[in-house]
Amino acid sequence: MTDRVRNAGRDAARAAHDWRNTEGQATTAPVAPRAATGDIPVEEFRQAGHALVEWIADYISHPERYPVLSRVAPGDIRNALPAWPPERGEPVDAAIADFERTILPGITHWNHPGFFGYFAVTGSMPGILGELLTAALNVNGMVWRTSPSATELEQVVLDWLRQMLGLPAGWFGMITDTASISTLLALAAAREARSELAIRERGMAGRDDLPVLRIYASEQAHSSVDKAAIALGIGHTNVVRVGVDDEFRLRPDLLAQAIADDRAAGRIPLAVVATVGTTSTTSVDPVRAVGEICRREGAWLHVDGAYAGMAAISPARREILDGIELADSFVTNPHKWLFTPVDCSALYVARPDVLRRAFVLVPEYLTTREQDVTVNYMDYGVQLGRRFRALKLWMVIRAFGREGIASRLEEHMRLARTVAEWVRAEPGWRVEAPVPFSTVCFRCAPEGMSEAEADAWNERALERVNASGVAFLSHTRLRGRYVLRLSIGHLRTTEAELRRAWEVLRAG
Ligand code: PLP
Repeated sequence: MTDRVRNAGRDAARAAHDWRNTEGQATTAPVAPRAATGDIPVEEFRQAGHALVEWIADYISHPERYPVLSRVAPGDIRNALPAWPPERGEPVDAAIADFERTILPGITHWNHPGFFGYFAVTGSMPGILGELLTAALNVNGMVWRTSPSATELEQVVLDWLRQMLGLPAGWFGMITDTASISTLLALAAAREARSELAIRERGMAGRDDLPVLRIYASEQAHSSVDKAAIALGIGHTNVVRVGVDDEFRLRPDLLAQAIADDRAAGRIPLAVVATVGTTSTTSVDPVRAVGEICRREGAWLHVDGAYAGMAAISPARREILDGIELADSFVTNPHKWLFTPVDCSALYVARPDVLRRAFVLVPEYLTTREQDVTVNYMDYGVQLGRRFRALKLWMVIRAFGREGIASRLEEHMRLARTVAEWVRAEPGWRVEAPVPFSTVCFRCAPEGMSEAEADAWNERALERVNASGVAFLSHTRLRGRYVLRLSIGHLRTTEAELRRAWEVLRAG
C-alpha cells in the first residue's frame, strides 16, 4: 500500500471518528441527521444507489485502472481502519468514500479480465443486479411459506440448469454456498444411505459395532473431500487417495483394488468422489467406469464438477458427464463458470429422500400446515436460514440463454487452446497437462536448466507477472515440479489480456 493510500485511509478514519481521542474515549460527538427509523432516508438511498450503479458500471468498463492483485501488505487495511465502531451514525457517502479510498486498495480483482488465478470467474451484470434485489428483499427462505418464490424459483432454476447439463430427469437440485458444503451434504447423505449403521441417531464415537468407513477420491481430488470426511467423523485417514494415469485421471483398476483391500480388512466402502475438472489440471475422471464399480460395491458416487461440470452445457462437451446416471449426487458451481456472483453452488441428488433423512428435524416453531408443499429446503442440510440465491442465477440464465452460455464457455476453451499453442511454440516452454477446458498448466524448463532451477525460475516469473498488475496467475505442482497455471473464466477476457500476461512471463 502506498503512503498516500495509507494516509488517506487514516485521515478518513479520523474524520469519521474525530469525536474520540486516541484511546477511543468520547470527546465531542458529531450530530448526524437521521430519520426516526435510524435507516438512511429513501432519497439518500436513491442518490447513493444511483451513484453506486454508476461506479459499478465504470468499474466493469475500466479494469485497466486497477492492478489485478492487491498490492497492500498484511495489516495495511486493518491499520487504515478505525479500531472502534462509530458511536453515532455517519452519512452513507462517508462509507462509500472510504470504500474507494481504504477498502479498494486491498481488493484483488476477481472480476477483472486479467484474473487468471485458481478458477477464474465472472460476476456478470445480470448477476450483480440479482444480488441487489436479493439484498433488498432480504428473504430468509427457511421454509416454503417464508417466501414461496424463494423455494419455487430455486426448484425451477435448478431444473433448468439440470436440463442444460443433461443430468437425469427427476434429480433434485438445491443451492448451497460452496462446492465444499455441497460435497459435505452429499457425503452426509452417503452415510445416511447406510441406515443400518444408525449413525444419525447413535453417532460414531465409542461404538465397537461400527466398521471403519472409507471414502475414495483420486490424488487430484479437491481438499473439500478430506474436510467433509473430517467434519462427518469418518476421519481423515479414511479418505483413500487413488492413483491417477498420465493424464491425471483416477485409475478405476486402482480404485477397485483399494476397495477390495478394504473389504478384505472388514472396512466399508462408503462413497467414491469422481472429479470432472480437477483443481490442478482440470482432468476428468472416468465417471462411467467409477460408477460401475460403485454400483457393484454399493458405494455412493458423488461427482465433483465444481468448475468444469458447467462445460457440459455445451453439447460438444456432453461426454464429460458420460455415466452421470450412475451417480448419486453431483455438484457444480454457478459462481465458478456460470457468470454468477459468489456464492452459488448447485447440488443435485438422485435420491432426495436419503439427503432429507440425514438432516430433517423440525422444531415446533417451524411446523407449517400447508399440505402441498413439496420442499422445505431447510430439511436438506444443516442450515436453517437461506439466502435467496436462485434470483441471481435466474437473472443470469435468462440474460444469456443456454446458447449464449455455451458459446462463452466454448470461447474460453478456445482461448485456453490458443495460450497452449503460444507456450508450445516457445523454445524451452512446455504445456504440462492436457487442456480439456479453459485452464493451462505450463512451465519454462529450457535445456541446461536443472528441474530445481526451473522451479525457482517459474516461481519468480509468477511473482513478476503478478507484480506487473496486468494479470494474476496461480500455480500448482505436478509430478513434484512447480507449474504455472492460467485459468480463463472472465467474460471480458480477450487474447489481448492473455497476450499481455504471456509477454511478461516469457520476457524472463
Ligand atoms: N471442487 C473442486 C474441483 C474445486 O476446484 C474447488 C475449488 O476450486 C472446490 C471443489 C471447492 O469449491 P468451493 O470454494 O465452492 O467450496
